[in-house]
Amino acid sequence: MAEEKKYLYGPVTSRRLGLSLGVDIVPFKVCTLDCIYCQLGGTTQKTTDRAEYVPPEAILAELRETIARGMKADFITIGGSGEPTLNSRLGELIDGIKKITDIPVALLTNGTLLYRQDVRADCAKADVVLPSLDAGGKRVFEEINCPHKDILIENLISGLCDFRNEFAGQIWLEVLLIEGLNTDTGQIAKIKKAIEQVRPDKVQLNTAVRPTTQAGIKKVDPEKLETIAAYLGEKCEVVADFSPGPCHKHIESKAEDVLSMLKRRPCSLNDICSGLGIQRDEVLKYVTRFQQQGVVHSSEKDGIIFFKAMS
Ligand code: SF4
Repeated sequence: MAEEKKYLYGPVTSRRLGLSLGVDIVPFKVCTLDCIYCQLGGTTQKTTDRAEYVPPEAILAELRETIARGMKADFITIGGSGEPTLNSRLGELIDGIKKITDIPVALLTNGTLLYRQDVRADCAKADVVLPSLDAGGKRVFEEINCPHKDILIENLISGLCDFRNEFAGQIWLEVLLIEGLNTDTGQIAKIKKAIEQVRPDKVQLNTAVRPTTQAGIKKVDPEKLETIAAYLGEKCEVVADFSPGPCHKHIESKAEDVLSMLKRRPCSLNDICSGLGIQRDEVLKYVTRFQQQGVVHSSEKDGIIFFKAMS
C-alpha cells in the first residue's frame, strides 16, 4: 500500500483544473458555511476564527517528498475538508509551496472571508483563486449556504470586489445552481448584477450532480444551464459533469469493495483510494452513503479521519 499522506491527495483529474494535487489545510469539516449541497456532509465547526489548524511545515515536508518522487500536476490545489482561508498561515504555506515548485497554486474558497484584508493578502499569493457565489441576496444566501451568523452576503460581494481590485491573477467564480432555489429569473438577474460588480476572469456554472448533505437537492438540467450561461455572458461556461458514471452493477461492486475493506480495519480516504485504485470523490460518495445508512462510522486520530464498518 502507498505511504499514507496526511495533507495531500491525488493528483486527481478535475474538470476545472486538469490534473490537480489536492492540499487539505483545515480539519474535517471546519467552515464558515454549511451549504445544503456540500458533498462532505454537515459542517461540524461553523466558525469565522482563523487559526493554525494545520502547520504549513508539515504540509511542505509532504509536498517536498511528493515532488522529489517525480509527481506531475497542472495545479497544486488548496482546498479540502472545509474552508481553507480559515487557516491563519495560508499565506506562509503558499510562499513555501512556491519555493519548492513552479507548479501554479490554485485556491478553492467560498470567498466569505475576503472582506478581511489579511485574508485577501494571503489569497493574492495564489495564481488562480476559485471563489463561490450562489446567491445575489440575503434570503437565498441563507437558504443555500447557511452561513455563520457573522457572514453577510453584502460582505461576501464587497470582499470579492476588493479582491478583484487588488489581485492581478485569475479569478474563476463558481456559481452552483439548484433547481427551484436560485434558478428563477429574479435570482439569476441578481447573481448577474453581482458578477458584473466582481468582474471575474471566468464564471463557471455548476449544479448538484453528486450526492449532497441534504436530501432532495435538485440539479438543473444541462439545457437550462446552457441558457443561463448564455444570459450571464461570454465569460460564463458550464462545468457541471453530467457524464454517466460506470454501470450500476460496476458501482455496486466497487461500493462492496469499499465496505469489505472497512469491515477489515479502519481506513482513511487515502487508504481506500490507494488500496482500491478509486478516485477520492468517488470514495467519498460511497462512504457518505454508508454513513447515512448507519453502516459506517468515522473517528479521528492524529488529525486523520478513519472510517470503519459497524460490526
Ligand atoms: S463552503 Fe464548501 S466546504 Fe463549506 S459547506 Fe459549502 S461546499 Fe461545504
